[in-house]
Amino acid sequence: MKLSVIGCGYLGAVHAAAMASIGHEVVGIDVDQRKIDALSKGEAPFFEPGLTDLLDAGTKGGGLRFTSDIAEARGSRVHFIGVGTPQQKDSYAADLTYVYAAVDALVPHLTPGDVVAGKSTVPVGTAAELSTRIASTGATLVWNPEFLREGWAVKDTLEPDRLVVGVPEGEAGAAAVAVLREVYAPAIANGSPFLVTDLATAELVKVSANAFLATKISFINAMAEIAEVTGADVSKLAEAIGYDERIGRQFLKAGIGFGGGCLPKDIRAFSARAEELGRGESVAFLRQVDEINLRRRERAVQLVVDGLGGSVFEKKVTVLGAAFKPHSDDIRDSPALDVAVRLHGLGANVTVTDPAAIENARRIHPQLTYVEDRDEAIRDADALVLVTEWDEYRRQLPPEHASSLTDGRVVVDGRNGLDAAAWRAAGWAYYGMGRP
Ligand code: NAD
Repeated sequence: MKLSVIGCGYLGAVHAAAMASIGHEVVGIDVDQRKIDALSKGEAPFFEPGLTDLLDAGTKGGGLRFTSDIAEARGSRVHFIGVGTPQQKDSYAADLTYVYAAVDALVPHLTPGDVVAGKSTVPVGTAAELSTRIASTGATLVWNPEFLREGWAVKDTLEPDRLVVGVPEGEAGAAAVAVLREVYAPAIANGSPFLVTDLATAELVKVSANAFLATKISFINAMAEIAEVTGADVSKLAEAIGYDERIGRQFLKAGIGFGGGCLPKDIRAFSARAEELGRGESVAFLRQVDEINLRRRERAVQLVVDGLGGSVFEKKVTVLGAAFKPHSDDIRDSPALDVAVRLHGLGANVTVTDPAAIENARRIHPQLTYVEDRDEAIRDADALVLVTEWDEYRRQLPPEHASSLTDGRVVVDGRNGLDAAAWRAAGWAYYGMGRP
């Protein structure tokens, strides 16, 4: 099927490449010419495991091309909208400028029977508004939220754990469902559940899923705060409660909390939208979820200060990680970088290392020192702070090796990912999050 994907960032580029890999003819469209140039050459403009292979195969005769000309969307049966919906500068609400601009630019190129499928994460009610904007074209607007995880985006797109499609009532909606079933036929055949809802439910599925995940993380981080004043160990606590299947082990790891381009801005946008709907109190807890999350970053900084005897001034602190999570170069609202910047603000000589995100981090925070080589970064550090759970830092950094690089013996484990006993046995003062 001929498809267009408008907005080729973390979501759109992967979606375009994945759809081409299952046999569709795909045009990816973005306003960022640098991204289009890279993608057209089969190069991923960001770090995402497996994406380069798909792009390479797709652009070399595999039915995948990229352009900055929206007119080339004409003739596609489905137009996926994957542009950004960041937080507004001066409020918690989502900035829908890019979504409206993309849809308005698309309108002159739509033909009757086309399906416009929103994938961006939007406040509930956006799809209804967009439906009126495209009404005169004879195209149908549906919402098909995306649940991919950065770092696993290719797999999540090709083998989604569920597909959700919100459609309008009536024949047009039913026809759009049939079209999307065809688009996603391989995944459906592979067992991915395909759920059809109304527009509002589909929009809400996405934000409520993220609200739940954020709440789970902040719940265990709240328990970490209690553990810290009682001498309890939140890691053991999480393990013990996680055996209860109703609770589950996933997303129950205390640390410096969540970040990235989705969870923080999505829970804030949800709060803002609920306020607009007169139901602010229904999700008032999300404010606390956000606050708990931000407090944990400060806690990690405090542990470094404590570990270094009350001041980090002019001490060399090596921050292991910059990306908001491993297997990604995404630094949007990264807790890792936030910790680094706060330490720098306290006068520490901060060195940041990361296997994938240094270039992005340097662009936004040029005041920090960046060293690509992990061991060089660690050399002569007074303290190490693990903030992103890359295997390079968590599994592949034996404490004895760290000891050979520096006389510093303070390690703050912002992700509770290190073997505390091993680091202590090697002579390090180990500080975890919510652990004695
Ligand atoms: P991104 O910033 O990486 O990509 C957005 C892209 O849209 C950019 O390349 C930008 O140049 C392009 N764009 C902006 N305006 C445009 C226009 N008028 N026409 C064409 N292109 C335009 O963002 P992202 O992480 O890919 O997220 C996109 C949306 O998907 C957001 O709503 C996000 O919440 C949602 N989402 C993201 C993820 C994720 O893991 N990144 C997962 C699920 C949902």
